Amino acid sequence: MIKTSPALPHSAHSDYTVRAVGPTKTLKPKRKVGKRPNAEQRLLSDTCRRSNSRWLELKVQDMRILQVPAFSKLPWLVHGFSTKPGGVSNQNVEKVLNLGFTEWDTRENVLENRRHFQSAIGASDLKLISLKQIHSDVIHLFDAAPAEPCQGDASATNRPGFLLAVQTADCVPLLLVDPKKRAVAAVHAGWRGTLQRIVVKAIGKMQMQFKTRPAGLLAAIGPAIGGCCYEVGTEVATQFQSQFAAAPDWFDEFRTGDEPNPIQWLNMMPPGHQPPPQNVLLDLRKANRAQLVEAGVRIPNIFVSDLCTACRRDLLFSYRKEGVLSGRLMSVIGVR
Ligand SMILES: [Zn+2]
Repeated sequence: MIKTSPALPHSAHSDYTVRAVGPTKTLKPKRKVGKRPNAEQRLLSDTCRRSNSRWLELKVQDMRILQVPAFSKLPWLVHGFSTKPGGVSNQNVEKVLNLGFTEWDTRENVLENRRHFQSAIGASDLKLISLKQIHSDVIHLFDAAPAEPCQGDASATNRPGFLLAVQTADCVPLLLVDPKKRAVAAVHAGWRGTLQRIVVKAIGKMQMQFKTRPAGLLAAIGPAIGGCCYEVGTEVATQFQSQFAAAPDWFDEFRTGDEPNPIQWLNMMPPGHQPPPQNVLLDLRKANRAQLVEAGVRIPNIFVSDLCTACRRDLLFSYRKEGVLSGRLMSVIGVR
């Protein structure tokens, strides 16, 4: 059964049409999940069948919040991945849902956006716990809300009443839930965090702390910069290859289209061969998905959004594309 949020007003946008939210996707028919009469939820297109990721869109006022059906089925769980539309912040001529404190936005706007976002997912009564993110592998376990945001890039709890949050604008947000132990985690993984296996370590913490079994975990990988757009230097690829046997699967040569990439530049090349490219493309979601599998999470329990923050600036924030004027997305999870 899906818990119906009392905070959700009837949508005033019954004529709202779902646009394709992915580079080359086709829409699937609208499907209602459970009974949530107060919220308009529609299927987001997604062709990532291998990852079993059929995402839902919760539309409240002008906000569009992404959710995973397998998570929504748990009545004691709240979660959501924010997007850009809606909110009270002014970015250029748009009203946007900026959920992070940035130079260009006011503190009041961000706090109001956070209230709207929490209300939309029915989590107004939960205490929001965000982090001072530092691209580390530091994971916090919360039994109580801290007075000040802690430095770190992941958090976990099995206590009701908290809404764990990570903020992103290109980096990968991951939400984990252990349905048996009723424990949750939120993880922020940029390339540095991915290189440090932050999601694997977060699962390790859950195993130690909550007796979580990875095979029972559900994991969602939210919108992030895609392998289509995330250009990094070859030195990043070299570092990944030194850590992960599967690393060549996560990189592509810069703008080589659909050609399969042998990643020649990662191998020893005799002198006189073509020089390596300056930059390569990294698929951070693929890397984190592989780490989840390696940690013991079952493939049908992994839900991967196919939305690229850099391709979909109409819907998402991208630091790579917008720089210091970028807003912040927020991914949240909590136990009621
Ligand atoms: Zn892209």
